[in-house]
Amino acid sequence: MSRYIAQSAIRGANNIVRETEEMLDRALAEKGADTKIGFPNTAYFLPTILGLTGRQVETVGDLQPVMAQVKTLLHPIPANNRWVPYLGETLDSGVATLLAEESLMALHYLYGQQPEPLAGFHLAQGTGAFTSPEYQAGDGDGHLNGAIDDIQLRSWGIQLVDGRMPGFAAIVGCAKSNEVAVKIVRELQQRNILIFLCGNVNGRSIIHQLQEEGVEMGYDTYIVPFGTDTLSAIYALGFATRSALTFGGMKGGQAREILLYNKARVFAFVLALGEVDDLKYATAAGAISYGFPVISDTVIPQILPTGVTTYEHVSSMPFEEIEAKDDLERAEKLVQKCIEVRGVKIKMTQVPIPVPYGSAFEGEVVRKADLRVEFGGKHSRCFEYLYSLPMDKVEDGKIQVLGPNLDTVQDGGAMDVGIVVEVAGRKMQKDFEPVLERQIHHFVNGASGVQHIGQRDIAWIRVSKGAFEKGFRLEHLGKILHARFHADFGAIVDKVQVNLFTNPADVNTMLQVAREAYAERNVRLADLTDEAVDEFYSCTLCQSFAPNHVCVVSPERLGLCGAYNWLDCKASFQINPTGPNQPIPKGMQVDSSKGYWAGPTSFVQQHSHGSVEQVSMYSIMENPMTACGCFECIVMVVPEANGVMVVSREDTSMTPAGMTFSTLAGMAGGGLQTPGVMGVGKYYLTSKKFLSADGGFKRVVWMSSILKQTMAEELKRAAEFAGDPDLLDKIADETICTEVPDLVAYLEGKEHPALVMDPLM
Ligand code: SF4
Ligand code: ZN
Repeated sequence: MSRYIAQSAIRGANNIVRETEEMLDRALAEKGADTKIGFPNTAYFLPTILGLTGRQVETVGDLQPVMAQVKTLLHPIPANNRWVPYLGETLDSGVATLLAEESLMALHYLYGQQPEPLAGFHLAQGTGAFTSPEYQAGDGDGHLNGAIDDIQLRSWGIQLVDGRMPGFAAIVGCAKSNEVAVKIVRELQQRNILIFLCGNVNGRSIIHQLQEEGVEMGYDTYIVPFGTDTLSAIYALGFATRSALTFGGMKGGQAREILLYNKARVFAFVLALGEVDDLKYATAAGAISYGFPVISDTVIPQILPTGVTTYEHVSSMPFEEIEAKDDLERAEKLVQKCIEVRGVKIKMTQVPIPVPYGSAFEGEVVRKADLRVEFGGKHSRCFEYLYSLPMDKVEDGKIQVLGPNLDTVQDGGAMDVGIVVEVAGRKMQKDFEPVLERQIHHFVNGASGVQHIGQRDIAWIRVSKGAFEKGFRLEHLGKILHARFHADFGAIVDKVQVNLFTNPADVNTMLQVAREAYAERNVRLADLTDEAVDEFYSCTLCQSFAPNHVCVVSPERLGLCGAYNWLDCKASFQINPTGPNQPIPKGMQVDSSKGYWAGPTSFVQQHSHGSVEQVSMYSIMENPMTACGCFECIVMVVPEANGVMVVSREDTSMTPAGMTFSTLAGMAGGGLQTPGVMGVGKYYLTSKKFLSADGGFKRVVWMSSILKQTMAEELKRAAEFAGDPDLLDKIADETICTEVPDLVAYLEGKEHPALVMDPLM
């Protein structure tokens, strides 16, 4: 650690702590010590403060002891004649800086200064690739993102866990040019690295640069603009801290464990663009404590590695000195350097198409104004169908467009497209066809400027003008599918060929064939019951974050993240026999109604490292399955109503339990067994085995309205199976009530069946 950096960082820390104290004094005087403060939608209070000090800050007054502790971490600025290593002092200053910055940001929230306003800004947010583009045409409210909420943290969780999203890059400052700024984020997006943006150089931020270039920013595009000041870098560290608390099962105050967890498991780095001032050095020192290296594109006095981060603490790669033919290539090399310095191998699938490709583009929306052509939706038909053939019937890499291509459609128009994928492989099984077919959604969505919604015969694909101008045509859909099926499913697929039908008559014929196959699959899936199979599957993917959690996945109970059902696990086991999905022979049945078998019990005992003794498949009251942090819904008993409520991850409102999803998640997660509380995948609600030991679907007395809306058909069938076709109408939601007495009154008025069922407790 050079003296220069130490001096700057320590000076920066002293300054920001002073500024925070002044602001705190003002808030104490103007608002009072008891005034509530905090970030929106989080159960982790001020997360960095919670993680590193164990303090739960809820009021302005709670910040006083925090600041007292911060001051013990400050050091005098080292004199010019001192030569000892200043690492300890610098890192202390870094931590002090983070704690002060988070306090200051909470005060800014209190004064309505966060999230930061930015004229003409629109956040691409909160809807994801499954929503119709027509619902997303909002203008935004002209604010940057501010702090990341727990909902988003969890919805990224599964991708962070399974490695689809390797980690995050915190970019601070401003790039040499707009072009370079765009190139840097595109390079990161192609590697699925989450991008956090903050800071400025002389008032100009990379956020302005991207805004000017029309780059969509928001949760949906993995580019999160925190704020144009350095302070908002604290949101990235708050995110890192919460990863350890949410997925690593750590408690507030376990500072050392939290920092080590991040160093070992969270792939992150800081990229400082442009001049680095004292506050940036001080904040960077905080990031270094987490094991995140800092890479700067300007000259910085060099520092040698000493073990806090895996490689160097701070590396500088002066932009102008990077050997390359132009700035774009320099940007590319800068990103490569960052990845090397953090030391993680990133798998990138080369997809030979004329637009950038990576799953970071999955959330992109093609709006009406940008639309070149669409398939499916209101004005045309689109379907996708994948099936297997014998080896000699498939010619690998053959892609045919049978009928007119995109050029024949006028701007903003629509055309019929049938995507028929034929695969062959020695290990291919008929059961895998739907599993593979469902990947088409993700694969196609990865192309920048192409949006994919739905599946089967309700697929809907939109191609933007930008993608079209770059040369994107129908055959590129085939190229994407060919490349990705080989890359991701090479263990079961040896050959892939794709036919793209565009003549309406052909689309008609092939659609009939596809529909027969869909119908047959539905029947086969319906036959797939827990009784009908000999083995369940484990999923221990989340153990990288939640070390004692095991999902037991059966045909009638999918993984709690919603991403893995029994067939997926079976296919995954074929692809990777030593991977996270192992067959669990059911063994002797111990209790059919509660769902105890000898096999799952011993598997869970062993793989939870002894922390779970028994697991029941069908009960929430007795030995319920544990949860990591990625559940789609939380089911929780409401004793007064003799039933359960189901809260969806997207629902931020209050629930009858007196807690929001964020707070409940803290009780449901972490790999612990908590009778009465369970994290589940939302499709488990529609299973015949849903809480079957406790009375089934009829126990549901309250449910987030978004579930009622988005799963109307499926839930109706579940209600019919439960013997009460009008059940949905009897189930309350947050628009009806959020208090127990109102809930009970509503249930009584509707004569909800739970009221007369056997007592739950
Ligand atoms: Fe994690 Fe369970 Fe989903 Fe596997 S099935 S990824 S363990 S939540
Ligand atoms: Zn998980």
